[in-house]
Amino acid sequence: VTGPATFGVDLGGTNLRVGVVDDDGTIAAQRRLATPAVLDDIVATIASGVEELGAVRPGAVGLGVGAAGMVDRDGAIHYSPNIAAFRRAPLAALLTDALAMDVRVDNDANVAALGELVHGAARGCSDVVLVTLGTGVGGGIVVNGAVLRGGHGFGAEVGHFQIDPDGPQCACGERGHWEAMASGTALGALGRAHAAAGDLPEVLARAGGVVDRIDGTLVGDVAQDGDPSALAVLRAYARHVATGLVGLVNVFDPELVVISGGLVELGDVLLDPIRESFAGRIEGAAFRPDVPIVAAALGGDAGLIGAAALARSSR
Ligand SMILES: [Zn+2]
Repeated sequence: VTGPATFGVDLGGTNLRVGVVDDDGTIAAQRRLATPAVLDDIVATIASGVEELGAVRPGAVGLGVGAAGMVDRDGAIHYSPNIAAFRRAPLAALLTDALAMDVRVDNDANVAALGELVHGAARGCSDVVLVTLGTGVGGGIVVNGAVLRGGHGFGAEVGHFQIDPDGPQCACGERGHWEAMASGTALGALGRAHAAAGDLPEVLARAGGVVDRIDGTLVGDVAQDGDPSALAVLRAYARHVATGLVGLVNVFDPELVVISGGLVELGDVLLDPIRESFAGRIEGAAFRPDVPIVAAALGGDAGLIGAAALARSSR
């Protein structure tokens, strides 16, 4: 059965994307815009985007939003470490008033997990762990076919699980959280530390000899070109990623782990060392089915397509 198209919004701190998405997960049309600094302007920008795109699919109904922050069960964003407008921001209520349509808002990683579940790599699964590796580390956990929200809506913040009490400081202020060791930002920091010690000559050369210009993307790019020193740093980083995945798989027993976010564009150059470091470390590894670790199928569109799927699930 083919239902009507729905609207989706991928709302980040820097950019927001508004799209109208068909029932099969195909993006019919979309707009990419800068995220305004003030909440009322964010609402107005989303509303005008929805009205404009409505002309492409006149029958479209319902809006879903994936937002980079802690979103409660009423669609209010309580907190985001990096986005000042997201402090007790009743986004769903404001958008409902502005657009007179059903609006659902959830955390961006939860929405990406829904997108992969309905239209992507996790189709047909009932239990899935999705992890986004980008500026931070996000998580979306599917249990028994439903995205885990927690008692207040704030569940699955896997990036803020402590794996080393003496580790580097996290953006949230605590030490040794998984995000502080396994994000793309953390890969950049690891790269700078190795470059300063003289261990990453090719990466440093590509950064013009300036250590501070090295970020996670550059380390990944040089590794992808086959440079042995960059591959060694990527392996050390992959071990941190795998450590968190082992804990999550022991807790949730998923059929599948999906890796999403900007770093997954590296493909098997990143995923293979994660798989190698993960293998054998889960409880009773030799006595249970393998848990595949795969790349997200929807790539950078998972948030937008998942947001539109969220709108569909609300009705
Ligand atoms: Zn943290």
